[in-house]
Amino acid sequence: MLVPVFTHPSCLKHDPGPGHPETSARLEAVLGRLRTEPMVALREALPAAVESLTTVHPESYLATVRAMSEQGGGALFLDTVLSRDSWNAATGGAGAALAATDHALDGKGHAFAAIRPPGHHALAGKGMGFCLVNNVVVAARRAQALGRQRVLIIDWDVHHGNGTQALVETDPTIRYVSLHQYPWYPGTGAADERGVGNVFNVPRGPGKPASLYVGDLWSAIVAATTNWNPEVVFISAGFDAMKGDPLGGFTLEPEHYADWTTRLRDHLPSAPIVGLMEGGYAPQRLAEGVVSHVRALA
Ligand SMILES: [Zn+2]
Repeated sequence: MLVPVFTHPSCLKHDPGPGHPETSARLEAVLGRLRTEPMVALREALPAAVESLTTVHPESYLATVRAMSEQGGGALFLDTVLSRDSWNAATGGAGAALAATDHALDGKGHAFAAIRPPGHHALAGKGMGFCLVNNVVVAARRAQALGRQRVLIIDWDVHHGNGTQALVETDPTIRYVSLHQYPWYPGTGAADERGVGNVFNVPRGPGKPASLYVGDLWSAIVAATTNWNPEVVFISAGFDAMKGDPLGGFTLEPEHYADWTTRLRDHLPSAPIVGLMEGGYAPQRLAEGVVSHVRALA
């Protein structure tokens, strides 16, 4: 089955500046590889409307990001830096996430969004960790608006999705399962952070065998879905947990993303899967990881 991969051209134009690891070369590498994949259909999404972002972010925050971009950019917060195209990249990326969500919830099969900047560190009123809009929570709220109440978010980026956790930790309709290096940026994600029983953190140290990371995330997914059947699965699909990534110390290889994806399809056969690109800072490795995941969605 063809897997649609949604993207937006503005995602290539966001530029956090020289020396910053979150470069357009990341997405260029991903799109270059996906264009050679026979089972992938690349599609351009429309930008997200502001009303679809205010389900997660206050209008005042969005207006600040927009105004700062339109004035040429600047540092929103520490290493979260805007350029002139950043607002369009953020709404383009969120639009691609929503298009992938709409596709999957329309019964047309699994989908992926190849987007940047990433989203899982973004808090309601504050961009953080290269992230401006929390794409996965925006997409989860769209799914709920379309009638899918029980939403599972799996986050296999090497960093804890502090923004996602903060946005869902009081909401039992969403379960959040995250494997991440710990202690590490952003400092959150301890195992005893359980929200209202809906947060399942899997903090692990660097340099362990890949089988440990694969098995431990899988055990947490099984725990989160025991007697709780999600109607849609979102993946905060970062690929910076791969061996050699400059921003992480995990040891995963491309095949491990295919392994998780295949297990998820078998374990939750009635739930569509929507993968949203997060981190991954060695562009060719990122591209290999994305392709492995997307192939397993076909
Ligand atoms: Zn990351």
